[in-house]
Amino acid sequence: MSRDDDRLIITGGKLVLGDAIATRKALVIEHGVITDIVDQRKAPRGAVLDADGNYVAPGFIDLHTHGSFGVDLTEATSSEVARLQERLPETGVTAFLATVAGIARDRMGDVVEKLQSARDKRTAGAQILGVHLEGPYLNPARRGMMPTDLLATFDPSQRDLLDCVKPPATMTLAPELEGATLLIDELNQRGIVASGGHSEATFEQTAEAVKRGLKHITHLFNAMPPPHHRAPNIVTAALVLEELTAELIVDGHHVAPPVVALVNKAKGADRIVLVTDASAAAGMPDGEYVLGDVSITVRDGISRTADGVLAGSTLTLNRAVKNFMAFTGVDITQAIRTVTLNPARVLGIENKKGELAPGFDADLTIFDADLTIFATIVAGKCVWKSPSISSP
Ligand code: FE
Repeated sequence: MSRDDDRLIITGGKLVLGDAIATRKALVIEHGVITDIVDQRKAPRGAVLDADGNYVAPGFIDLHTHGSFGVDLTEATSSEVARLQERLPETGVTAFLATVAGIARDRMGDVVEKLQSARDKRTAGAQILGVHLEGPYLNPARRGMMPTDLLATFDPSQRDLLDCVKPPATMTLAPELEGATLLIDELNQRGIVASGGHSEATFEQTAEAVKRGLKHITHLFNAMPPPHHRAPNIVTAALVLEELTAELIVDGHHVAPPVVALVNKAKGADRIVLVTDASAAAGMPDGEYVLGDVSITVRDGISRTADGVLAGSTLTLNRAVKNFMAFTGVDITQAIRTVTLNPARVLGIENKKGELAPGFDADLTIFDADLTIFATIVAGKCVWKSPSISSP
């Protein structure tokens, strides 16, 4: 195969380059990597994909998803995981962390191994970057949909679960629990990102955990007490402490729109990561689904357990970006950062993902002003395109 045959040129788009939008530029992709951004008239030969006036952005990265399209990542077989990878590009997602949740600790290791071997297989579609362990070291008082009997406090005899996790990866933990400080140390040693969540930590407990190496906050506001103006807590810490990035589920139900605007004012779009927290029900009709071992019911797109507790979402990441722009008034370049560069930074992979620049992985999401996905490219291969496109 000649060099020209393995070259893909993206023309005719509005390239999202950091804060700027560039037009009349062509993106040159070779062997799965962006190699150049050139004046459109000077583009080299190769297969051409005409972006037809749409935005061309780095691929969307979801740090917190339980599945979608009828697939629950914790319970799925390998072929179901592959099916989810094939379908996620419809929502603009090119890479994600697979969340493991809602199961007993002694089963988590096997699920981690299953998802990590799916990562190594490199199925065509959205890439699995690694795992997000949502538990088991969570506060029972803020367990959300997690059954109490699956929760635990950490002690060093439980290192075997951490030992099977290969970064990039994250773990959600409640910083106020016994053993949490030791757990954060263990996670740091292994390169696993410690994220605070499902927690009632005070401001001081959270600040202490940050000093110890807590970096991120799992779905801010959800599964934590509301902040009180005389009793600052983990929510206040997430808003105030610069070291922390914060996830937000921007479906309009999990966090009310003006509160999303408040978070944007406090943190700025550089420290916010939009996530879906999607369950198997995302992209599916209302009905009955599972999240780990927990049964959930979806009515009018809202996913709850039998007790009426919110359990994951039916959100897609492209809709989250659209909602975030509507709720905060930020422009497209800032909104895009919350699903590209920011999540890449959380995982420490910002040297190869999250930007359109020479040397970066050729993961691209192409969409219109309404965030309707036009085409999705992973490692230089078009893995999904709108039925209206004929090339390449
Ligand atoms: Fe979750």
